[in-house]
Amino acid sequence: MGAFAALAAEAAACMRCPLHRTRTHVVFGAGSPDADLVFVGEAPGFYEDQEGEPFVGKSGALLTRLLGEIGLRRDDVYIANVLKCRPPENRDPLPGEIETCTSFLDRQMECIDPLVVVSLGNFATKYLLHTSVGITRLRGNRYRYGSRVLIPTFHPAAVLRGGVGKLDEMRKDFRLVRTTLDAGPARREVKIDLTKAEETTAPDVEQLGLF
Ligand code: SF4
Repeated sequence: MGAFAALAAEAAACMRCPLHRTRTHVVFGAGSPDADLVFVGEAPGFYEDQEGEPFVGKSGALLTRLLGEIGLRRDDVYIANVLKCRPPENRDPLPGEIETCTSFLDRQMECIDPLVVVSLGNFATKYLLHTSVGITRLRGNRYRYGSRVLIPTFHPAAVLRGGVGKLDEMRKDFRLVRTTLDAGPARREVKIDLTKAEETTAPDVEQLGLF
């Protein structure tokens, strides 16, 4: 068994936090473990818990549609969540649950080693960028995430609630994803424009300069 399959098997049997008692399925992730692009959402919802797959239902359909608009299929990318089991009633994840579970996401990232990570929504963005700044302020730009580029965008569920304006902004973020992927591994060497970061976005995250 390869390292990634072993990690998935470990997650499938995990009982490290109380969420194992209320879950139907562990939702480890889906897609290609060799992907250049990884999406990270918050936690499984009702349908994800039932099916054991991330981003199914209307949110998943929107994600699939936006991927198609930049020439990608779900099988071309990897999709995961910060938390692998559904919090009851879709409540926010608790700090202890996050602390216990995120070693799975961290090890997924190490195995996949993508060029670009897209955080979907406030929760995943705040976790991955270690910031308290909200998604509305952060989206539209690229940030350093280890040796990778992180592009924050809205959660598809928020776009479904938020109408055409939010959808247009999410489309812009996906076009930025496409441009960044097309630039390839050279993005890992990009210089950080700290001055611009301090002027235009949160002081505690590093924004990457534009091409
Ligand atoms: S949420 Fe994470 S840590 Fe908690 S039981 Fe599920 S897989 Fe294990």
